[in-house]
Parts: sequence; C-alpha cells; structure tokens
Amino acid sequence: MADAFNAEQTRYLEGFAAGIGAARITGGLAGGPAAAPAPEPTGPDAIHLKAQDATVKAGGKLCDQEKWKRAESPFDGHNRLKAEAAQGKAPKPEDNFRWRYHGMFWVAPTQTSFMCRLRIPNGVLHHWQFSGVADLADAHGGGYVHVTTRANLQVREIAPEHAQPFLDGLADIGLGAQGAGADNIRNVTGSPTAGIDPQEILDTRPLAKSWNNWILDDRSLYGLPRKFNVAFDGGGVMPVLEETNDVGFQAVEVLEDASVAPGIWMRLVLGGISGHRDLARDTGVVLKPEECNQVADAIIRVFIENGDRTNRNKARMKYVLDAWGFDKYLAAVEDKLGRKLERVDPAHIAPRKPTSRYSHVGVHPQKQPGLNWVGVVLPVGKMLSDEVRALARIAQECGDGQIRLTVWQNFIFSGVPDAKLAEVEERVAALGFSVKAEGIRAGLVACTGARGCKFAASDTKGHAMLIAEHVERTVTALDVPVNVHLTGCHHSCAQHYIGDIGLIGAKVVVSEEGDTVEGYDIVVGGGFAETPKIGTEIWKAVKAEDAPKRVEALLHAYLAGRAGRDETFQ
Ligand code: SF4
Repeated sequence: MADAFNAEQTRYLEGFAAGIGAARITGGLAGGPAAAPAPEPTGPDAIHLKAQDATVKAGGKLCDQEKWKRAESPFDGHNRLKAEAAQGKAPKPEDNFRWRYHGMFWVAPTQTSFMCRLRIPNGVLHHWQFSGVADLADAHGGGYVHVTTRANLQVREIAPEHAQPFLDGLADIGLGAQGAGADNIRNVTGSPTAGIDPQEILDTRPLAKSWNNWILDDRSLYGLPRKFNVAFDGGGVMPVLEETNDVGFQAVEVLEDASVAPGIWMRLVLGGISGHRDLARDTGVVLKPEECNQVADAIIRVFIENGDRTNRNKARMKYVLDAWGFDKYLAAVEDKLGRKLERVDPAHIAPRKPTSRYSHVGVHPQKQPGLNWVGVVLPVGKMLSDEVRALARIAQECGDGQIRLTVWQNFIFSGVPDAKLAEVEERVAALGFSVKAEGIRAGLVACTGARGCKFAASDTKGHAMLIAEHVERTVTALDVPVNVHLTGCHHSCAQHYIGDIGLIGAKVVVSEEGDTVEGYDIVVGGGFAETPKIGTEIWKAVKAEDAPKRVEALLHAYLAGRAGRDETFQ
C-alpha cells in the first residue's frame, strides 16, 4: 500500500508504524543515523500537515482519522474510491471516513449502504431541485428523503455502485454534498424566513451562500481537527439555533453613541456544541456583514492550527476556547487578520426582537403584502419520494416555487398568495401531512436512531412516533407545539438538551445478567433564542416502552402549571 504514497508520506507512515512519531523520521532523536529532514509541507493541505507535525513533535499520538487524512487525501483518493465503489465494494473504515468528505456515509451495520447528506446553504431549494432529489432517491437510494436538523436533506440506502452516480445527479440539479461529513464545515444554516420575514433586520441568504462558496473554493478549509458548524441569524421570527453552532453570526442593530457606527452589524458568538452541554456565547465582537467570511475563515484557521488531533472527544473548537478563553482566541484571530476586531458594549445593541415557537408551522404573513409562508409538519422529517414530488408541485403551483428547510426538521412553502392558502392546506392534508401549529407532532424532532445509525442506543424515530400516538390519545388539550427531541447517543444530532423535553438514548439494564433494552435518559427545560438553556436531567434509564407515559406526565404537568400558551417548560 505504501507504494501509493509519496516519499514524505511514506516516511511518516513508517514512523507511525514504528510508534515513534515524526521526531525519529525527521532525524530529531539520538541513537541512530539521522534521516534527511522531511521537506516543509506545501500546498493546500500544508496547514493541516504542519498542525499534525506539531502534535507529533510535542509527543502527541495522532488519532486514526488524522493518520488516514495524512496517508491519502480524500480528494486525491476520490478516483480510487469511485472505482472501488463501482465494483460494489463496501468501503474499509478509513475509506468510509474519506467518502464522508464527499457527503457519503457508509452506515453498516444498521444498513449495508451509503447515506448521502447534502449541502443546501440557508436550506433554500427550488421546487425542481426538491423533486430532483426525490428522483435520485428513487434511482439510486431507498425511495425516501429525510429532513435533518441542519435544514438539510439526507437520502439513504444508496448501494456502493450508485454512490458516484447519485453525486453526479446532484450536480446535474445544482446541488452537492462536498464536505457534508467528516471533519469539515457542515451545511451552512441561515434564517429560514430570510427575505420574507416582517421583523428581520438582515436577509441571511447571500451570507450563507457566499460562505458556502468560500468553503467549496478552498481545499485548505477541509480536514479540520473535527466537524464545524456555522449559522447566520437575521433577527427574524424563526430561530435558526445559531447558539448551537461553533460560530454564530447574529444580525443586530447597533445604536447611536456606541464605539462603532450605528446600523446593522453581525454579532459574533462562539463555542456552541449542545451535545457537550455548551451553547455559544457572545464575544462582544461585531462585524459588518461583508466581513463574516474573512473572520470565519480566520477563526477556523486558528482552530486548524490549535485543535486537538489526538483525542476525538476533545477535538471540537469548544475545547480550544475552554483552554484559552475568548481573549486569547480572539487575539490569535486578530493576528491572522492583521487587524483588530470591533467590540461593542451590549448596552449599545438594541434587544433582539422575539422569536416565535410556532413560526415553523402554519400560515404566517410575509413582509410582502398578500403573500404568506406555510410551514408543514413532517413528523421526524421523513417523506417518500412521491410525497416530495407532490409537495414540490404545490410549491410550484401555489407558492414562489421554493422550499425552505428549517432546523425543526420540517419545511415551509414561501410566497403563497392569500387566495391559494386553502388549496395548499387541502393538498398538504391529502398527502397525510398537516400545517396545524398544534399537537405533539409539530415540535417533534428525532435523529436517525437505531434504524440507520450504528451509534444509536435506541430507535429514536420509531419511539418518537409511539410517543406522538400516545400523547395524541391522552393529552388532548395540548394546543402548542412542545419541542420533544429524541437523540440516539451523545452526539446529540437532535439537540435533546435544548428541547422542552429531551430524550437521549440509553441501554437500560433489565436483569441481573446484564441484559439491556432500549431506553432513554430524560431532560426537561432546555431552550434557545431568548431563553437559551441546557435542559436538566430528571430521569435516567427509562425503558423506551415507558417513555410515552413519562412524556404524557410531563405534558399534563406543563398544561396544569403554565400561565399561558407562551410559557415554556422553563
Ligand atoms: Fe446517530 Fe447519535 Fe447522531 Fe442519533 S445522535 S444520528 S444515534 S450519531
């Protein structure tokens, strides 16, 4: 295998195989003939190679994923990956990791096939792209599509020989998946109601698209120490959960007498990672909207150079921030930029207008008179291909032709004239979906779970539906979409810590012999936007079969104790 590598790579691999690291192979250790020093890395991967070198020189042992990146770049190896997949071969673990740079996840043993996660900046699709994804799911996948909690789409059950044809098909409809997995900058989220929201102060679509293209154009921004999330909030009524991202840009109005000119600025928040019980915090920095790409780029390069390359559990940017503090991190960013960042006292920033917990479902007037957005409830985010095509036709015939995905695992139609609202509601209902902002299903979010993810301790999507059916029978007075988030493991893809009720998969021991069944630990009172909070654990190891009754009890207690419809679980 080493024949496939260049001289520098071969030296490193030999060093790792011997367990002695780069110091030996660069001639830095006494006791043997000194080898010629390795040449200084150059090219787009140099920033990563240097960070790996520094780790090894400091005595660190690179984790497997770092060694895989070094041994063969997922981009340089794409042709080999394609050729092997075309023969129907399942990828080895290191190639599964490389495929993720192209958006393809081999999800065995739960399914012996690929899952493809797309890139859809700001979550906005044309109707023909939406139906095009359904066509690709039929031609190459399982004939269904999932909406994710990053306002994105996933297609499952893609056989190896269909992996590249699926990606080629995405390109045909103006979509892609590059960098949607592994240690890369994930789908860029922005306010779902951008450009149509009466209260927004900034349309996030150009920013999300521009940042997405910035990443796509620069290979040096791939292969970070760990995955990375960036979100843009335009100050509208629908939250985008930027506080759960590594980097969040929040549109704010800076008032007179601040240290910068009054007007619209982007406030920088850093370090969100809800699965590690942390939400992004305000840095005090504000930027002009057109500076976001450059500053995000500098933040990421500081992370590339200083993130942990030895321990995957400590490799997210949060851990650099924890070790350094904001001041040191921002000073490093300013060094990269070659200038100081602007800071504003929060007292000189107008309070953000309130978000609405119901804005992602139901009918809402747009800022364009006579037009509306209509949010469709998609329990746990799943649609069959025929349903996708029918929904796309509704967008084309009754709206402005766009589908806007939200982080609430659903989507909205935009640009629907008043005269078309009844037709939209009727056609959506005929498909078995709803636009009603009430009941348990409107706020139900579940990650892939045990049906499709090897990390899952429980069947989150299946149990979410059982909870919904039980609650609909037993809590008939529920008149608001309570956020019930089910996540299968500590990766927290469904962000259970910010739900009103959050369930995280757990194996529950049921016998002295150690037999286990699927179950959950349960947290309550999480929040976001105006009420950011990590939920509090109240029950551990609840059997999945008992979860519906526990959720029922919590909902009854909430309805009995709340002061009004707008009161949250907090
Ligand atoms: Fe898989 Fe865990 Fe993410 Fe659920 S939270 S999809 S189980 S990795």
